[in-house]
Amino acid sequence: MSSIFWFRKDLRLQDNEALSATVRAASQNSDNTVFCLFGFNSASFEQLEGIRQHSLTESIRALDKSLDGKLNIVAKSNAQEFSKELVAACSKTSSLEVYAMQSFDPEGVAEQEIVAKELIANGLALHLVGSAYAVNPGTVTKQDGLNYRVYTPFYKAWNQLANIEPVKLPSLQTTWGTLPKQNISIEPSKSSPLKVIAGEEFALRTFRRFKERALDDYDEQRNRADLSGTSHLSHALAHGEIHPRTLLAQLGDSNAHEVFRKEIAWREFYADVLHHYPHTVNDYYEPKFKQLKYDTGSDAQKKFELWCKGETGFPMVDAGMRQLLAEGWMHNRVRMIVASFLVKDLHLEWTWGAAHFEAHLSDFDPASNSHGWQWTAGCGTDASPYYRIFNPILQGLKFDPNGDYVRKYIPELRHLSDSSAHEPWEVFDGYSNGYAEPMVDHSLERNEALARLEEIKAK
Ligand SMILES: Cc1cc2nc3c(=O)[nH]c(=O)nc-3n(C[C@H](O)[C@H](O)[C@H](O)COP(=O)(O)OP(=O)(O)OC[C@H]3O[C@@H](n4cnc5c(N)ncnc54)[C@H](O)[C@@H]3O)c2cc1C
Repeated sequence: MSSIFWFRKDLRLQDNEALSATVRAASQNSDNTVFCLFGFNSASFEQLEGIRQHSLTESIRALDKSLDGKLNIVAKSNAQEFSKELVAACSKTSSLEVYAMQSFDPEGVAEQEIVAKELIANGLALHLVGSAYAVNPGTVTKQDGLNYRVYTPFYKAWNQLANIEPVKLPSLQTTWGTLPKQNISIEPSKSSPLKVIAGEEFALRTFRRFKERALDDYDEQRNRADLSGTSHLSHALAHGEIHPRTLLAQLGDSNAHEVFRKEIAWREFYADVLHHYPHTVNDYYEPKFKQLKYDTGSDAQKKFELWCKGETGFPMVDAGMRQLLAEGWMHNRVRMIVASFLVKDLHLEWTWGAAHFEAHLSDFDPASNSHGWQWTAGCGTDASPYYRIFNPILQGLKFDPNGDYVRKYIPELRHLSDSSAHEPWEVFDGYSNGYAEPMVDHSLERNEALARLEEIKAK
């Protein structure tokens, strides 16, 4: 008898609890064979932007390579069809059990429930082992058993529970099995603006480089958009090419390391919040903000398009939006600036921005995206929310003091030296290369945002 392993958002071999459990289970069998499967939904893949298609393809290629070319790609038009494919695979390989990582986001939960039901109906079993987190969502609770709604106390409790011991793949004789059926190959149909490198090996290398280059100054540098002061591991974490345990296990006690640990915990906090409030994946965490007056109609649509293209006339916002289109990634500080601008300067709903991010971010994660947006928009888990309105010009001057970040992504501002790139209206030739003038007056829109808030408070 063999075992089947179903790869989900855990595209790695090391520090993978579920895969280790499968290998151990297979070692009890006479042939030691594990059939590794990945469910591929070609219709959803087609809808992804080029950079997301390429990043998933590269992750899968790297995984296949580490399995000596033995990754079995199985069609998954939906969870129901895929569950039938799994039953068929069990029958072809004489397996009675499927192992996989447990998901906690709404789509993953629905999928594993359908799969479990179908397997059980056919006399088979689904074992869900481990998760993409150091602490499974739903585990960190207050003394009264309820979940935390605020980050800082969550962090303290999470830190006590966090499992930071990486799980080594057992060094047992394992044969990776190939299903008799013709494999489906994954080829991007859209081009990517940059060459994507991905996979477990690359993720481990990225972490090693981050430790050498930036980890010890992370507390000081992480907010600087012009420096490479962060790990750039979000893509790897979102695809599961690395587990947070692997990162946490190598952190020390310095302030810089502690701040990095806290960022990892933000990811876990948002996963926990989404687990408890699954509707917040695309709906309001604070429902009263649904009643806030947002702009709609064709003018709103035009404003949204300028924001998406990075043509708002606010250099820090435009640089961020163009970085997203060019690289499928954006610096965290800049994500907050562009999100605040969309909601509080343009008065558009956060869901518009979140959908644009989902289409373009190669590190897209349902919990971090939805709750990163809601936190910034003021309707999320932030304790002092809506009044926080980022001034995009001051934020630019603070977190890109020499204008290098802005010049990198906005060619129309490259002729401007130092911080003047943040304020082209202050220099005589600021607009000589065709850069857009500010689409709104920030101080007026700030007042407008606060007035709209007063309206819902009065209600
Ligand atoms: C509006 C908005 C949308 C976002 N959407 C996503 C998303 O779809 N996917 C995603 O992974 N992150 C998202 N984030 C969080 C954050 O911007 C990215 O995780 C971070 O920029 C990734 O870069 P890094 O790997 O260099 O981060 P580092 O600073 O090196 O942090 C290490 C890791 O900690 C986690 N992390 C760091 N900051 C946050 C945070 N604020 N919230 C949650 N996790 C965090 C990430 O997994 C990150 O890779 C969003 C933030 C905002 C404000």
